[in-house]
Amino acid sequence: MKEFGYDRPTEVEAALRSVAGDGARFLGGGTNLVDLMKSGVESPRRLVDVRFLPLAGISATTDGGLLLGATATNSDIAAHVEVRRRYPALSQAILAGASGQLRNMATAAGNLLQRTRCAYFADPAEPCNRRSPGTGCGALTGEHHNHAILDWTESCVATHPSDMAVALALFDADVHYRTPGTSGTVPFARFYRPVGDTPHEETMLPEHALITGITLAPVTPALRSRYRKVRERASYAFATVSLAAALELDGDRIADVRLAFGGVAARPWRARTAERLLRGGPATPELFRAAADAELSAARPLRDNAYKVALARNLVPAVLADLADAGNR
Ligand SMILES: Cc1cc2nc3c(=O)[nH]c(=O)nc-3n(C[C@H](O)[C@H](O)[C@H](O)COP(=O)(O)OP(=O)(O)OC[C@H]3O[C@@H](n4cnc5c(N)ncnc54)[C@H](O)[C@@H]3O)c2cc1C
Ligand code: SF4
Repeated sequence: MKEFGYDRPTEVEAALRSVAGDGARFLGGGTNLVDLMKSGVESPRRLVDVRFLPLAGISATTDGGLLLGATATNSDIAAHVEVRRRYPALSQAILAGASGQLRNMATAAGNLLQRTRCAYFADPAEPCNRRSPGTGCGALTGEHHNHAILDWTESCVATHPSDMAVALALFDADVHYRTPGTSGTVPFARFYRPVGDTPHEETMLPEHALITGITLAPVTPALRSRYRKVRERASYAFATVSLAAALELDGDRIADVRLAFGGVAARPWRARTAERLLRGGPATPELFRAAADAELSAARPLRDNAYKVALARNLVPAVLADLADAGNR
């Protein structure tokens, strides 16, 4: 075990000062970072625990949206009455992830910043560009049955592990952060960087930025949403493919539709091609399937994961049919 310092600030300014030194990192629930420290993948010199900062609240915003504090636990967000009422796909996505114990510890910001990873990443003896830039990607020609089918490059074929992030992509979230002397906002659609040839650079946050909160845009009461996760066992498993979907009908016409996949790319995949085809059209199985086909025509499966293309294609009509049916009842 390598020695490291531990700081427990109670004010944001103090946390920003404390993390500015060499090798310091913020600590949320520790369910990802401490795991990676144990396996030798990460070795921070100091941990700055953010859980004593006043950032755990969940509250309405003036425009009718919702603010999720950065240190609100995954369990508290999933159980919050307004999340369940207005953003049910977010509650369902969180509850589909990890386990009750992990969700009680994990924070909103930590969930978004958990490392995109695979088994090669977790083993310092294996090549992995994301962990050790320039060493290669063990999964590209190795074991990759649960890796990406969209938007990957030869540098990295991993998928983003977060369920919560897939639902946030659906609700046009914004991520708010502070650095010493500045504050900023990154729209969630641009929060994760494309893989390119620098997979170790995962987000658009400046160095040492402290996430302070995430806001969700307001939604109309008629927008129904749902999260469905396909995985290899019923709990404690990352998505094989997941889909967050939201649908608003005007009679039999689609007034609004939003779709985001998990488990298919290194970032939550908002299915804009499918959405464009669906918006304004009839809510029929034929159109749902055509939209899924159009989105998945861009898929580039690896040697052992072509099954994911069919899975993703089938999830779209299944979940949209459920939502349309719920809308008509
Ligand atoms: C066995 C197991 C199964 C799992 N299954 C799933 C699953 O099915 N679905 C899923 O979505 N997730 C799953 N997870 C991952 C889990 O959701 C994450 O580990 C958790 O959400 C991370 O949150 P945390 O607060 O513990 O983050 P930490 O481990 O504390 O931190 C993660 C990263 O975030 C940074 N950070 C934390 N807070 C801030 C802040 N406020 N500002 C800036 N940086 C910050 C840290 O420096 C670190 O880099 C699983 C984890 C385990 C161990
Ligand atoms: S897929 Fe990405 S995380 Fe996995 S070995 Fe390749 S570079 Fe590393």
